[in-house]
Amino acid sequence: MYDYLIVGSGLFGATFAHEATRRGKRCLVIDKRPHLGGNIYQERVEGINVHKYGPHIFHTNNKEVWDYVNRFVPFNRYTNSPVACYHGKLFNLPFNMNTFCQMWGVTAPEEAMAIIEEQKAEARTEMTKAGVSVPRNLREQALLLVGKDIFETLIKEYTEKQWGRPCHELPAFIIKRLPVRMVFDNNYFNDTYQGIPIGGYNKLTEGLLEGIECRTGTDFSCTDYRNWRNKARNLVYTGAIDEYFGYRLGRLDWRTISFRTHVCDTPNLQGNAVVNYTSHDVPYTRTIEHKHFEMFGEEVYRNPKTVVSEEYSSECRPGQEPFYPINDERNNALAKAYSSLAEREENVLFGGRLAEYKYYDMAPIIEKVLRLFE
Ligand SMILES: Cc1cc2nc3c(=O)[nH]c(=O)nc-3n(C[C@H](O)[C@H](O)[C@H](O)COP(=O)(O)OP(=O)(O)OC[C@H]3O[C@@H](n4cnc5c(N)ncnc54)[C@H](O)[C@@H]3O)c2cc1C
Repeated sequence: MYDYLIVGSGLFGATFAHEATRRGKRCLVIDKRPHLGGNIYQERVEGINVHKYGPHIFHTNNKEVWDYVNRFVPFNRYTNSPVACYHGKLFNLPFNMNTFCQMWGVTAPEEAMAIIEEQKAEARTEMTKAGVSVPRNLREQALLLVGKDIFETLIKEYTEKQWGRPCHELPAFIIKRLPVRMVFDNNYFNDTYQGIPIGGYNKLTEGLLEGIECRTGTDFSCTDYRNWRNKARNLVYTGAIDEYFGYRLGRLDWRTISFRTHVCDTPNLQGNAVVNYTSHDVPYTRTIEHKHFEMFGEEVYRNPKTVVSEEYSSECRPGQEPFYPINDERNNALAKAYSSLAEREENVLFGGRLAEYKYYDMAPIIEKVLRLFE
């Protein structure tokens, strides 16, 4: 008899299994995918670690979490600094003085600020004329926050590709803040700690799951595991919550991403790990050149090849991988209803992005699991 049957070997399941095992509990981890690690899993292609489910950059201000992951594998100091491409013209992200210099040719923060404030005021005037006091959609929200140039060049079409709908039909809440930095600083995250495990994320998963019984290619939906009470005293479930309840209240909506990955006969194709394509003429949202997460300087040229993935965003149909929850009114209400059902399940803990129908970064997932054991 196991103490815990853990469904899902992503960061939630793997961290839980590690902490429970450390406390003398007997755990069995199952995952329906053919590998462990959930979305942080990487495939080795041409000597390069490829982020199979989209690029993952670990970042946190929490020293405890940073020290925790570094115990399993040391992390490098990769700094996320994506570039945006709009009709062939490149802009640095996040929005900072480099971006404003590329966009308007300004070099002083005061000049950039004046342009942004003027364009924000234009948006406010336009809305007031239309009798609107609170932004009704994402377009209005973004125009009020950063003005029309940044919105049209770097936000509008990228967001429309991500969500498959025009910005004026998307809810304003998707964009809560759009920070602009009045310094020349392309570091995307504000966190104290950020990086990628040296040798890849699989090392983190292997470290967390070392010595723990794991079965891949094993779906919880099959009868044998559905009757888990014959096998384990407790269940930790990190799969989709609507699936657990047989979709009895309806299906939760997700966005999915499909990846087209190419091996290219050049050591350095785009000179950066992440390039966002912010115009509609390019059908994908971004391209990822995986080697730049782990190879720097001369090392990039030691491997004559490179691996690049294009990301295409679309509505998630049954059988596809759910990536991003669509936290609109309908889905939030449905997720809440499922979570009420979940509360009534005895000896079952629901956790992680699929079971909670919530986008989480990696560090908060680890923090959540560690708190459970305090
Ligand atoms: C495209 C993308 C990019 C991201 N980039 C970043 C980033 O840069 N930085 C960051 O901090 N975070 C990032 N994240 C978030 C990160 O992926 C999550 O925080 C993390 O994966 C959550 O772990 P989890 O264990 O909850 O889920 P998952 O990693 O999804 O693990 C759940 C596991 O459960 C398994 N499972 C589901 N149903 C069943 C079933 N019925 N039977 C058996 N197994 C089942 C699945 O196969 C999966 O392996 C990103 C997420 C996405 C989608």
